[in-house]
Amino acid sequence: MNRVCHDLLSHQDLLTRLDVEIGDGDHGFNISRGAEAVLEAAPQWRHLMDDAFLKALGECVLKHIGGASGALYGTLFLTWGKALNQGKSIDAAFYLGVESVERRGKSTVGDKTMLDVLVPFAAYWHFETKALGVDTWPIVQRLAETHCENTKNLLAQKGRAAYLGERSVGHIDPGACSCMLAMKAAMNGMMEMTNLEQSD
Ligand code: ADP
Ligand code: MG
Repeated sequence: MNRVCHDLLSHQDLLTRLDVEIGDGDHGFNISRGAEAVLEAAPQWRHLMDDAFLKALGECVLKHIGGASGALYGTLFLTWGKALNQGKSIDAAFYLGVESVERRGKSTVGDKTMLDVLVPFAAYWHFETKALGVDTWPIVQRLAETHCENTKNLLAQKGRAAYLGERSVGHIDPGACSCMLAMKAAMNGMMEMTNLEQSD
C-alpha cells in the first residue's frame, strides 16, 4: 500500500498533465491528496482483515479524493470489501467491485476511462488465473500498460473528456493512467516482498 501511494505521489505531474490535456487538470492533485491521506491512516489499519481494510480504504478515498475519480475508486474498494465480507473469493469480489464502478459511472470498457484498465484486469483475475502469483505479476503489468496506452486511440464517451469529442483522441485517459500506475506499483511491491522473504 505504501509503495502504491509513493508511486502515485511521484507521478503527480504526469497525472496533472494528462488531465490538463482532456479534463480540468486536477487528477494529479486529487490522487496525491488521497495517497497522502492513505499513508497517514494506514498504520491504524495494519491489524484489519482484508474486508475491513478495504472498507477503511474506500471511506478514506471517498473523503479525500475529490472529483469523479474519488467517488469511483471509493466505490471500487467499498464494494470489493463488502463482497469479501459476504464470503466471495478475492477475485470474484474485485470483479463485483469493478461492476459497481461501471454502474456508478454509467460507463464501460471502451468509453476511455479507468474502466479500460480495470475491466480487463478484473476479467483476467476472475476468469483466467484466480490466484495472482509470481508468474502472473508481469502479465498484469503488461496488461495494465497496454490497456492504458490504448485509451489514446479511444473517443471519450464519459467524464469531462467526453465534452471534447474527437479532440479527446490522441491523449491517454488520466484515470486509466492512475489505475495502471497503482496496479504496477502493487505488483512491484509484491515482487519485492517475495524477494525479501526468499533472501531471509
Ligand atoms: P474529475 O473528472 O471530476 O475532474 P478526476 O480528474 O480526478 O475527476 O478524474 C478523472 C478520471 O475519472 C477520468 O480520467 C476517468 O478515468 C474517470 N472517470 C470520470 N468519469 C467517469 C465515468 N463516468 N466512469 C468511469 N470513469 C470515469
Ligand atoms: Mg479532473
